[in-house]
Amino acid sequence: MKVRKVPQRKCIVCQKSLSKREMLRIVRTPEGQVELDPSGKKNGRGAYLCGDAEAFKKARKTKAFERALKVNLTPEQYDELERSFAAVQDKYKSVSCGKIDEQAE
Ligand SMILES: [Zn+2]
Repeated sequence: MKVRKVPQRKCIVCQKSLSKREMLRIVRTPEGQVELDPSGKKNGRGAYLCGDAEAFKKARKTKAFERALKVNLTPEQYDELERSFAAVQDKYKSVSCGKIDEQAE
């Protein structure tokens, strides 16, 4: 009786829960850097969002990262994150933020 449970994580943008590997992790490192963590293994405070370019844009607009990570991000840091995100985006193509299970809260 082995049921393998995939850990679920909640998107900071649309609040949808997905398995960890469908989510993109953003981490605030102990040094105070904010970076993408496609491996999901970096130390620090993490936040997850759907691996969707739209999700990233929405997070930027609504300051969801800042709230989730309790940090202030400069436009330069956002640009940097957006570039890193564009580089790994292909892995997350199947995910679209907010479209499944959309619920008003
Ligand atoms: Zn989402």
